[in-house]
Amino acid sequence: MHPESEQFLEFKSLYSLADHLNCDLDQLQNELNVIKPMIKDENLKSIIELYEKLRPYKEAFPTVMSMITGALTIPVSSTTCERSFNYPEAKKEPANTGNYRRGRKEKIKGVVLHGTAGPNAVQWFKNPKAKVSAHYVVEKDGRVIQMVSEDDTAWHAGVVSPNSKYAKGPNPNSWLIGIEFSRDRNNANKMPEVQIKAGLKLVKDMKRRYGKQFGVYTHDQFETTRTCPGPKFPVKRFKDAIKG
Ligand SMILES: [Zn+2]
Repeated sequence: MHPESEQFLEFKSLYSLADHLNCDLDQLQNELNVIKPMIKDENLKSIIELYEKLRPYKEAFPTVMSMITGALTIPVSSTTCERSFNYPEAKKEPANTGNYRRGRKEKIKGVVLHGTAGPNAVQWFKNPKAKVSAHYVVEKDGRVIQMVSEDDTAWHAGVVSPNSKYAKGPNPNSWLIGIEFSRDRNNANKMPEVQIKAGLKLVKDMKRRYGKQFGVYTHDQFETTRTCPGPKFPVKRFKDAIKG
C-alpha cells in the first residue's frame, strides 16, 4: 500500500490485506474507483498522508479507511508488508529470507549471546546457503546490525545437546532472540569495550520491551559442545545489566 509503489491502490495488491481484514471486496473496488482520480495529482508520500487526505470523506470510504487503520495497526507478522525492525539504533540489513522462519511459535523469554568465531557474519546471514541467522550482529567497533525481526524465528540455537537442561523443552529458537558478537576464530579475543557497551544497551532495551520474564542465556547452555560465546565474554555484565 505504499503510495510510491506502482500498484498503490490497485485492487489486486490490496486483495490479500482486504481479505485478511474481511473487507467487502466489491465495496472496496467501488471506493478505489472514486479515490484514485481524487489523489491522482496529490503526490502523497505515505499511507498516513493518504489517511489525512481521505479523513474528511471517511463516511464515503468506510472500507478503504478501515484498511488503512488496519494496515497501520495490525502486527506486521500477519500481513504481507515489510517486516518490522525493533531497535532504532541498529542498521537494518535483512538476512536472506531462507535463513529464518517467519513468525514465532512461543513467546519471547530471553536472548542468547553468541560469538561469531570469525569475521563476516553479516554477509553469511545474507547468503542463501547459510541456513543460519541471528536477529542482531554487534561488530567490534560497536555497530549494531539488525538482520531478522524479533517477531521472526532466527536460526542460531536450534541444536540442543542431550545433556542440556533445555533438551526436553521447545526449540530455543522459538522463544529466544539471538545476538552474534563478532569475535576471532576461537571466540577467545578480548572484546573491545565499545562492543560490549553496544551489546549491553541493546539487551537492556529488550528487557524494557519484554519485561520480567526476559533472561540472558549463552549458546553453550543449549549446545553444550560449543565454545560460544567463548572465554573472556563478559556474560555476568549482561546478566547484571537486566537485574532489578
Ligand atoms: Zn553460538
